[in-house]
Amino acid sequence: MKYAIDRYETGSEKEVRADIFYGKYIPQKHARFFCPECGEPVFWRSRGGSQPDKFSHYSKTELSPECDKRVDGNLKLNLYERVGLPVYLTVWADSQFCLNIGFPALNEQLLLKAHRQQIKVCVAGAGDQKTITVDAGNFLEDSVTLVPVNFVPKTGENYVVTIFPKEKALEIQKNWSDYADGFSCGGAIFAYGETEGKKIRRGDTVSPDRQYYVIARCFVPPQEILWKKLGTISLSKEVYQVYLITICVSIENINRYRYVENYLQKEFGVWLLQTSPELIPLWPPVTEQGAMIPVLGRSKMFCAVSSGNDVPNVYRYDGTEVSSMAVGKGESGSYTVSFSVDLREMILSVDRKYVGREVSFQAKEIVRPRFQYDYSIEEENGNLIEWKDLTREVLAAPFSLNANARMDLYIGCRDMTFRHVTVREQRLSVPGQYNSQEIFFVAEDGIFFHVEAENVDKTEYLQTVLTVDGIRACHGGAWVPVPYWVEYVLLECKRTEMKR
Ligand SMILES: [Zn+2]
Repeated sequence: MKYAIDRYETGSEKEVRADIFYGKYIPQKHARFFCPECGEPVFWRSRGGSQPDKFSHYSKTELSPECDKRVDGNLKLNLYERVGLPVYLTVWADSQFCLNIGFPALNEQLLLKAHRQQIKVCVAGAGDQKTITVDAGNFLEDSVTLVPVNFVPKTGENYVVTIFPKEKALEIQKNWSDYADGFSCGGAIFAYGETEGKKIRRGDTVSPDRQYYVIARCFVPPQEILWKKLGTISLSKEVYQVYLITICVSIENINRYRYVENYLQKEFGVWLLQTSPELIPLWPPVTEQGAMIPVLGRSKMFCAVSSGNDVPNVYRYDGTEVSSMAVGKGESGSYTVSFSVDLREMILSVDRKYVGREVSFQAKEIVRPRFQYDYSIEEENGNLIEWKDLTREVLAAPFSLNANARMDLYIGCRDMTFRHVTVREQRLSVPGQYNSQEIFFVAEDGIFFHVEAENVDKTEYLQTVLTVDGIRACHGGAWVPVPYWVEYVLLECKRTEMKR
C-alpha cells in the first residue's frame, strides 16, 4: 500500500506516502510505520526499478490482503463502511449512562422505502443482539440516530451490524456500515461532552490536558491519569464503572510520556498525541451536536486547523471519495480551511483519513436558549466590578466569580495562551495571573459573552467586530478560541464580503 501512519517521534504522527523515503536512511524503521486502516505495524520496502515503493503488513493474515486493498482505495467504500458506525456514551442528569450506536441520517425517501420493504437492522455482540425496524419512527432523517445497546462484544471484537433482508439492504448499507468499534481489554475511552461523548476508535488518538470518559471494569491507571468516578453502567450483565479522566503528562518527561502512551495503547488501543488534531470553528459561531456541527443558515465556514504535523492535512469525504482540502496559512503561522455549508452534510477529518475522528457540518436552525445568564466579578476587597469598568489589573489579580449557571471561562493572556476555569458553583475563586486581558464566558451552547479589558486599538476592532455584538447576537455558537489569528479570518471575510 502507498500510505502509512508514520509515528516519527514520541507523541507525533502523520500520514505519509511510501515514495518519500526512497533512497533515504529511515531511523527506527521497524517501529514507526502503521497501517492507516487496521492500525497494525507495517514496514517500508522498495524493490527498485519498476517496482514502486510501498508499505506492507508484516505477517499476512486473513485480514491483511483486504486491508491492503482498502487502504489504497480500490474498494468503493464510504467512510462508515471503513471506520464503522460511531459509538456514543450519553449522560443523563443524575449520572445515568447509556451506550449507543450512532446511525447516520437516512433521507426521507430512503426511510419510506425501507418501511415499505420492511427492512430491519440488527446490532449483535457476544451473544446479545438488538433488532429494530428501519423507518421514520425509529430513525431520524436529518441527524444521527443513537440506538441504545446494553451489551458489548467480546474484548477486541466489534459490534456486528446486519441489515436485512439482504437483497434489499444495499442502498442503506452504503450509508451505514456492517460494524461498530468494540471495546479493548481495558474498556473504552470517549471524548468528553456535558451530555455525550463519542468513542475514541481504536487506532485513533487522545491528548494530554483534555477530559475523557472511560468505561472500565477495572481501572488502575498510571499516576499521570487523574480520574474521578462518575457512576456505573451495566453492559452484558456486568457492572462497569464510568470515570472522568484527564491525562497530565508532558513530552518533556519522555519516560513517563512513553509509559502513559504504552498504557493507553495496551488498555484502550489509542495513541497519545501531544497536539490533538481538530478543526476549530472560527466563524460563524456554531453549535456542536454530537457528530454534527449545525451552522446558522447557509454560509461560508472558517476553521482553524490544530495539528501536530508540520503541514496539516484536511480530508473531505463525499460518498466513497476522499479528497484533500486546500489549507491556508495565516501570517501568524496558523492554518485555516474554509468551505461552504448547506443542507448537505460536509464531513471532514484532520490528518488521518480512516480513523473515525470525522466531524460533520450542516446548515440548520439553531434553537437559542431563553435562559438568562447572570454573572459578576468581585474583587478580593468585595468591590463588584461593572463589566464596562473591567481593567487588566482586575483581571490579572485574584477575584471571585458569581454565576447562576454552569459555565466555562477562558481567560486570555497577552502571550496568546488561554486559562480554562470550570464554573460549577455559584461562587468561585479565580487565582490571579499576570498579563490577563480578556475573558470569555462559554455555556453549553457556546460563547455568550466576551469582554476585553482595557482595550488597545488593535483588539478593540476585534472586540466590536467579532465578539460582543456579533456573537451575542447569535450566541448559539461554540467558543471561538484564539482571537489573534481570527484577525486573518476577518480580513478574509471582509475580502469575500461575507455577511455577518
Ligand atoms: Zn492494515
